[in-house]
Amino acid sequence: MNVLGNYIENFSKMNKIPVAILGATGIVGQRYVKLLSNHPWFEIKEVAASEKSAGKTYGEVMKSRWKLGGNIPKEVSNLVVKECSPTLESKLVFSALDASIAGGIEENFAKEGYIVISNARNHRLDEDVPLLIPEVNPESLALIDVQRRKRGYKGFIITHPNCSTTELCLALKPINDKFRLKKILVTTMQSLSGAGYPGVPSLDIIDNIIPFISLEEEKIEQETLKIFGNLENGKINRANIQVSATCNRVFVSEGHLESVSIETGEKPTIDELIGCLDDFDPLRKLNLPSYAKPIVVMKEEDRPQPRLDRNLGNGMSVAVGRIRNCNVLDYKFLVLGNNTIRGGAGGAILIAELLKVKGYL
Ligand code: NAP
Repeated sequence: MNVLGNYIENFSKMNKIPVAILGATGIVGQRYVKLLSNHPWFEIKEVAASEKSAGKTYGEVMKSRWKLGGNIPKEVSNLVVKECSPTLESKLVFSALDASIAGGIEENFAKEGYIVISNARNHRLDEDVPLLIPEVNPESLALIDVQRRKRGYKGFIITHPNCSTTELCLALKPINDKFRLKKILVTTMQSLSGAGYPGVPSLDIIDNIIPFISLEEEKIEQETLKIFGNLENGKINRANIQVSATCNRVFVSEGHLESVSIETGEKPTIDELIGCLDDFDPLRKLNLPSYAKPIVVMKEEDRPQPRLDRNLGNGMSVAVGRIRNCNVLDYKFLVLGNNTIRGGAGGAILIAELLKVKGYL
């Protein structure tokens, strides 16, 4: 690289916001590493994980654990993995920690002035914590002030919803805005990467479907009501919608498919329903680097399919297909989303980008 090239590279690096990834060695953590290397606004300065990974370089720890294909980005491979204690240099922290330990660690960071964006379930339903999908409920950022006042935190915690909830709510947002949701019945077919690494034992899932995912149905049912709730006087009143979820683990590596039936207050035609999904593009004007049109309507009778459609919009779009009338409720369709990108790291990075343009960083 010539002198000018070097200068431009160093200058653009100097202006990037340093970030840390907690749980960087896990499935979602790896997604962060991949999505944040070469991000125009953020630079990975630190990676952290459990005691057993700490002290070694990321490259060493991930030698047989990197699951995303290609090489580990060189600048991250050389970083020494740190422990998850609030002594990191980066004030913006993405948490992809296992839920068994995420709650307390995230609180410690927020107390010490860090901005924590979490993929873990622990704080999602806390009254003073935003449960945020940027295209769906950006107004919930108002809870940041409530949280700081109530808890005396110098920093704050924002949570990203569960992967299945995220794609469901993205697909339903324009429908709820225009035609008022009353009932939602959803059956998920969730991929293996959703269970983390090493996840589900191979002998349990090969040639099989497991009709149970611990706590997943409760997460979808409760989180959806908070996301579609009304913010009033610093409090979110849960939406008046009936939600019933059934969750299955299937033999697919990535991409959660959901079969959805809904009842609505207004009764649009199928074309009107498709039109409202097609038109949904709420954050286009903000020019956020990770933003893609959130919904892609598919017209083919056998789509969406995980293997074919999980990377639409670089994994940030959900695909909605087979939109038709339902003989029990009003309408039914299939929704597909990439669980580690849209439902995990990508969704959380989009939150960070929104925080930046809204002046929180
Ligand atoms: P995972 O592959 O099991 O990774 C868990 C991470 O937590 C690893 O980096 C692990 O570090 C770290 N960890 C475990 N115990 C720790 C401890 N005591 N102290 C510090 N770090 C510790 O899980 P995942 O699938 O990436 O999921 C991470 C989080 O995101 C979970 O809360 C999950 O529910 C949520 N989530 C997952 C998905 C998905 O599609 N997988 C989507 C949305 C949300 P070591 O390697 O050092 O043990």
